[in-house]
Order: sequence, then structure tokens, then C-alpha cells
Amino acid sequence: MFDLVIRGGSVVSPHGVGEWDVAITGERIAALTEPGAIEPASARRNVNAAGRLVIPGGIDPHVHCKWHMPMPDGSAQLTDGPEVVSRAALHGGTTTLIDFAARSEPLPLREIVARRDADWVDNCYCDYAYHLMLLGDIEPDVLSELEGLLVDGYPTVKIFTTNITPSRAGRMLHFGDIWEVFKILSRNGGLGVIHAEDNDIVMHMYEKLIREGRVSFHNLAEVHNALSEDLSFRRVIHLAHAERTPLYMMHVSAGTGVRAIREARANGQAVYGETLHQYMLYGSEDYRRTNGQIYHTYPSLKSPEDQAELWAGTLDGSINAVATDEICCSLRLKTIGDRIDDTTGGNAGVEPRLAVMYHEMVTQRGYSLERYVDLVSSNAARIMGLYPRKGALAAGSDADIAVLDPTVRRKVRLEDLHETDYSPWEGHDVSAWPVMTILRGKVVVEDGRFHGERSDGRYLLREIPDLIREGPAL
Ligand SMILES: [Zn+2]
Repeated sequence: MFDLVIRGGSVVSPHGVGEWDVAITGERIAALTEPGAIEPASARRNVNAAGRLVIPGGIDPHVHCKWHMPMPDGSAQLTDGPEVVSRAALHGGTTTLIDFAARSEPLPLREIVARRDADWVDNCYCDYAYHLMLLGDIEPDVLSELEGLLVDGYPTVKIFTTNITPSRAGRMLHFGDIWEVFKILSRNGGLGVIHAEDNDIVMHMYEKLIREGRVSFHNLAEVHNALSEDLSFRRVIHLAHAERTPLYMMHVSAGTGVRAIREARANGQAVYGETLHQYMLYGSEDYRRTNGQIYHTYPSLKSPEDQAELWAGTLDGSINAVATDEICCSLRLKTIGDRIDDTTGGNAGVEPRLAVMYHEMVTQRGYSLERYVDLVSSNAARIMGLYPRKGALAAGSDADIAVLDPTVRRKVRLEDLHETDYSPWEGHDVSAWPVMTILRGKVVVEDGRFHGERSDGRYLLREIPDLIREGPAL
């Protein structure tokens, strides 16, 4: 007896796209079968998915929940927590989030993880994991503790090569510390997840624009520019080459970043690229729109030529995943800063990501369904050490499933969303929308009705395969 059989849909599986029935027992996929091969009486519930697309639940490898958000007056706010973001994610067909456990205080790393667990356990509707995030000065005993954590299921370490803004000193790592961390990542199954900008160039541009009185956020692309991305990507990739450290370059925003990744991969290096849907679809001209800050995240929106290179990167393997850099907060907080040095980053987009990218990739650009699923789900699972448990519709995988209705023709409407009081995606065309989301066999969203519970989400310990770490495997 199966618990659930999803019948008659177009299923995107690791073996291609086909009309299969998906049978689920407990939390896992039991089988993909020929249509009708399982008698309806052999399932506790049968779902008719005729005319629908059945894909692995989305994976967003870059979100920030309950996150420190500096305010222009020097105070700080926290962004919305996992209970808000994970619910919106499930409504949008995303079933796994990867956030960060940031060492923002000089505490042992295991204490940092325990504190992060306090924010998440029994407070998240979907499955989740954290990247460890190192900040500022790194004491030697942190490095030795890191070795143990990497092999205990926390194999990814976020590193900044810049403080991002002048007021956020203490964020970047010294290059020598990055070198030491890279050695440890190489030896212990790790992966560096990198925010790379050239701190000298960025801080120089802050000084210059402030001196010239050009402090409006409209000028953010001049500060967080493509040359900075070029210099920093190449420096950090070169260091990784010396230590044979695999890297995942977060939120690639410029053509220079895509080219640096492409060249490293051609050279056999295990370097993977992530971009964000806002970098692909919004440019620095969008800062001029009403509440233009809502489109911003750091580094910055760039030019149409940069956007074209990001899109090209999704076709040649330089860009492997499309994330959100989710920051969920009110419109008031997102727009309270309006200078180059105090504008809030992040994007409230975890919910419409799958639908918007379906429209842009499949409908507008003719991407195959497999490529679309790779970019919004499977590749993140592969790189981050979750595959094939996550990111695959196959026997034995977790039954994390999004059922999309591809007959929808409309625009994203704020009233359809569950994130906050605004959306940078409002008005964007969509040509598919999730009608059912399943998390480990449980139907958590059906026709807009939410059935999840805060205790549903589970922490995912991870291990990155050697194949991913040894060369450009995707
Ligand atoms: Zn981020």
C-alpha cells in the first residue's frame, strides 16, 4: 500500500521528462511507474496531476532568516524568521532552504550552531541547513574546531572578501586567514562559499562618491562595480587553485565574474557559480523606479550586458544555481536607507522564484525542463551535498515535490504572496504557479491552503561528494 500516488503529470526526473506516476511511501519516493501501473486502490490517496508539471521541490541555497539588518541610525533590526520565510517558500514550491550560522561573536563554532538551532528548530515549516559563516579575525583554535564541524555534516563555509560597506567593518577575512581556511576545507571535505568583492576598490569608491556628494543609492553600481568583481573573483579563485579548494561563488552579478568562473572551470578547477534572480532580471536602471531599493542586493544590480552574460552562464555551466539572497522585511525597513552606504540588501523573493524562473527560462527562453530544474533545485542539492536525497524525483529520494500548473497566464500579485507587505516581483509575468507542495510525503500546500506545521522542518546534515570537489562536475 502506497500513501500517495501522483498520477498523469509530466515528471522531471534524473532520467529525463516523461509521463509517469510518482508513488510515495512514508517520507520517500517509492517508485516512478508507467501511468496506471499502480491500482488506485493500492494507494491511500491518489492525486490527478494531468496537465501539470511534477518537479523536485525547489532548493534555495542562499537565504537569511532572523538576520541582523543594520539601520541608518546605527541601530539594527532582525529580518523575518524561518517561520515566515519557510512558509512562503513552501507556498512557492521550495522545500529546502540553506541559511547561515554566523560567528558574529567570538564563541566556539558549535556554540554558534547551537544558537542558530534555537532560532530554527520547531520554527521552520520546510527542511533546512546552514552554511557556517566566519567573520573578521580568526583565532587558531577556531580553525581546529572547524575541521571537526566540516566532517560532522557542516561542510560549507561562507567567507567575505569585503566589509561591503564602511560601517560593517569586521566582516571580511584577511587574505591569510582565507588561505588557512582553504587548506582546512581541502583536507576535510569542505567547500568555500564566497562573497567576493575587492575591498580596496569598493572602499575607494565609497570615499570618492561621498567626497563628491554622490551618495544616493542610485549610484550603487559604481561602488560595487564589475572591476571589483573581476579582481576579487580571480584572486580568490587563484588562491583556491593553489590549495585545490572547491568554491561556490555566491551571487555572481557581473559578466566579469562569469568569465572568471568559466576560465577556472576550463582549467579543471572545481568552481561553481550562483546568481540571483534579481541580478538576471533587474539592472542598475531599476534603481530609478519608485522604491528602487527593493531591487537592490549587494554587490549591486549591473548593466544589461552583465545580465546577458549571467544568462549565458546558465547555458555553459558557469552559473549552476539561481538563489534569492532572501531578506524578508517590511517595505519601510527595506527603503529606510537610501544612500550608497546604508541601503538594505537582500531580496524578498523566495516564494515567486520557481514561477518567475519558469517563465523566464522555459517560456521566454526555451530552456529544457531539466535545465530549469537543475538551476532552481537539483544543482544546489548536488553542490551542497544533498543529492539525491534532495533535488531528485527518483526512488529512494525524499518525497519533496512541487506540482506546477503551466496553463497559468498572469502577473505576480502581492495579495497572492505570503512573505511581507511588498514584493519586488509584483507585476512580473508568470506562466506557471505551484498548486501543490509536498515535503517528505506530506502535502503541505494544496490549492493555496497551508497544512504545514512549524515542527515539520528538519535539519539536513550534508556531505559533499568527491566528484563535486575534485573538478567542475556540473
Ligand atoms: Zn546573502
